[in-house]
Amino acid sequence: MDKTDIKSLTLEELTQEIKGLGEPAFRAKQLYEWMHVRMAGDYDDMSNIPKALKEKCREHFEYTSLKQVRMQESALDGTRKFLFGLADGNVIESVWMEYRFGISVCISSQVGCRMGCRFCASTLDGLERNLRPSEMLDQIYAMSRILGKKVSRVVVMGSGEPMDNYDNLLRFIQLLTDENGLNMGQRNLTVSTCGIVPRIRQLAEQHLQINLALSLHASNDAKRKQLMPIANEYSLSEVMDACRYYFEQTGRQLTFEYALVGGVNDTEEDAAQLIHLLKDINCVVNLIPVNPIKERNYTETGHSQVVAFKNKLEKSRINVTIRREMGRDIDGACGQLRRRHLNEQVGN
Ligand code: SAH
Repeated sequence: MDKTDIKSLTLEELTQEIKGLGEPAFRAKQLYEWMHVRMAGDYDDMSNIPKALKEKCREHFEYTSLKQVRMQESALDGTRKFLFGLADGNVIESVWMEYRFGISVCISSQVGCRMGCRFCASTLDGLERNLRPSEMLDQIYAMSRILGKKVSRVVVMGSGEPMDNYDNLLRFIQLLTDENGLNMGQRNLTVSTCGIVPRIRQLAEQHLQINLALSLHASNDAKRKQLMPIANEYSLSEVMDACRYYFEQTGRQLTFEYALVGGVNDTEEDAAQLIHLLKDINCVVNLIPVNPIKERNYTETGHSQVVAFKNKLEKSRINVTIRREMGRDIDGACGQLRRRHLNEQVGN
């Protein structure tokens, strides 16, 4: 049987485990603090934990920690992209972005992805496995430790579909926002989904203050189906209803991500349909010129057309931002660095 993953336990659960090992409860608190506040890479770093307890822990628990396989730093904007090795040999990627208001990190929720979005590199080889809560936390902890700075915002927008790993996602959120841990404010956390409707509704009912970003990418069902297989399962009207429900339940402004793909979803008519779709929704639209991947022949929308698209939305009083294209020189888009690494390993 697999050992218990110590870093995925809540403080209450850890306390029970530690008591079960015949140790006093305060040791659980100390261990928890080492893992989730001081972000220790290993038991060896835990100076106030007796050697005998460290040994017991090694015997009873698994301690996840990520191995830095690569780090690429953008010469353009200081964005760093990390490739981390997991205990089972899989690799995942995470991104570190420094803004004027603080540091944002983008983390992966799965190894690979099974959603099949046509423009996305993460999904080309399908889903390998879900990430555990500890492995999601560890991406934040490892980058923070390596770069010696505190992270102020986390976006679950890396490889994988977080709503396809729902239980682990919820536990990750619980641990990240725990006052005994890193204590991140829920409002500083954003989860991005391709639109798994029942999960959006379930998350809404948790009444958390986290931000929801919905990958929309098209303003009618036919075009959305061309780009995103999930659109065959849930219609746009079902997705939009779920988003409205999320807003009703949480009061959080929604973000709609819209990757502009040259000649596919970037016309004036697309913008007009988008305006219609979003009327009376409290939201911001994040336009992302698609980052072309070599496995598909999509091209990005030219800058002037991006601006025209934005202007048209703004005329209808929709809030719009254009995603700053950070880290484009370092395989910035979802799954590109991991894919390059895997290809190099098999000699492609
Ligand atoms: N599965 C989740 C989160 C991961 S993808 C989701 O679909 O939202 C994060 C965002 O990046 C999504 O909006 C996704 O559609 C977008 N994305 C993926 N590959 C891209 C590319 N090559 N260019 C631009 N955006 C891309």
